[in-house]
Amino acid sequence: MKLKNKIHLGTSVLLIVIVIVMNTAVYFAAGSMLKEADLDRTVAEARRIMTGVLNPAASVSSADLLRAYAPADGMVRIILPDSTVDGVSASPGAIDLRDIEAVYETAEQRNVIEVGSARYARVIAPVIWRNGDVASLEIMENLQATDRILDILRIVLIAASILAVIPAVISARVLGTVISNPIVNMTQTMRHIRESGRYEQIEMNSKQNDELNEMAETFNDMMEQLEKNYVKQEAFVQNASHELKTPLTVVESYANLLKRRGKDRPDLFDESVEAIHEEAVRMKELTQQLLTLARSDESWNIQKESVHVASFVKEAAEAFEKAYDRRIDVGVHAPFTIITDRAKLRQILYIFLDNARKYSDDEIHLLVEKNEIRVIDKGIGIPSSDIDKIFDRFYRVDKARSRKTGGFGLGLSLAKDIAVAIGADVKIESEEGKGTTAIITLSDISEYRATMNEKTE
Ligand code: ATP
Ligand code: MG
Repeated sequence: MKLKNKIHLGTSVLLIVIVIVMNTAVYFAAGSMLKEADLDRTVAEARRIMTGVLNPAASVSSADLLRAYAPADGMVRIILPDSTVDGVSASPGAIDLRDIEAVYETAEQRNVIEVGSARYARVIAPVIWRNGDVASLEIMENLQATDRILDILRIVLIAASILAVIPAVISARVLGTVISNPIVNMTQTMRHIRESGRYEQIEMNSKQNDELNEMAETFNDMMEQLEKNYVKQEAFVQNASHELKTPLTVVESYANLLKRRGKDRPDLFDESVEAIHEEAVRMKELTQQLLTLARSDESWNIQKESVHVASFVKEAAEAFEKAYDRRIDVGVHAPFTIITDRAKLRQILYIFLDNARKYSDDEIHLLVEKNEIRVIDKGIGIPSSDIDKIFDRFYRVDKARSRKTGGFGLGLSLAKDIAVAIGADVKIESEEGKGTTAIITLSDISEYRATMNEKTE
């Protein structure tokens, strides 16, 4: 069954049951209250007769005595202990009541009896009769008026129930539609997306801030995110194949050259082999970087150990100085120890040092403070319009310049991925023409153990 119909049916049935139960309860409560009121009135009437018939004159017959007290629609009679009737008076419409068997009762009785199609309130009460005996005074009064009230009440309640149920059923239908429409929309959009392969958004026509709108919003955000990722992924594949195409073209043309004239021209042979080798190394580097980037989170194989950051930075700086013949100045403001993956942290640091080396000519500074490692250069800097994009894969500020320096534009995105894997944070602050500062924040508080009072080595 559809959600819309489920809501409609469920809500309608519930409302109908509630209305029926409530109105039935009202009807029976009113009926029982009216019955009690009638019986009370009849009891009061019996009391009035009891006092009225005390010490009657001997000349007045019992029937005459009771005639004065006969109810408008009913009967009054005196029943002696031997169950014989001594005096009865009935209204013209209730003559039949005389035929009801007379029963002598010593205690007061009150009930409602049915005679034919009519209902009567009957009260039997003990009374001191004219001969001094205790007789039963029986009085019966027609409940026609009460029954009429109950009939009207029944009609009113049925009409009210119907009037209440109709709008309830209609609003349940509307409710079902209101709830299910966005869901139906969403399902349709999802189906569209599956069929067309495009990322579509759900139309939101109400400005309300309800859960359904929230769901549609979340769905749209998700679609946007997926689309962005898809576009990025596509760009990545395009860039990667483009990056591979250039060295492959170089390799191909030199191979061709070798094929045609390699045997007769030893100078060409050396040049070609050298170029092919260079491009092969470049491609190897690129594929290695791509493989690292393609790694999923689980395959990082993090191995944590305690790292004394000051000496770690010094070691890395020394190794780098030797390899590239560049001055690196290490300053330790606040030494600290952290539990992290030493090799991965070194990889991030090398990526930043490599950039500082490539994009500046002066001395590079390395700073250790609080929970940060800063790599500072006074080089060409990064324009503010590019700063948001430099962490994207294959992004290079100046393509021509980067090609000369041999970069793929993968270093920073790799640094970011590694940082996420070891729970660190990386960011870059830069001013064009003045220099760049790369900051590694090792802020995983649970694992961060600052040793501020440790001596600087
Ligand atoms: P790769 O690191 O893959 O060899 P790359 O250095 O060009 O190549 P990234 O390290 O990702 O790539 O850097 C992206 C771009 O950001 C660089 O091309 C460069 O334009 C700019 N950039 C990064 N670091 C600096 C820096 N310290 N000074 C100036 N520009 C920088
Ligand atoms: Mg780089």
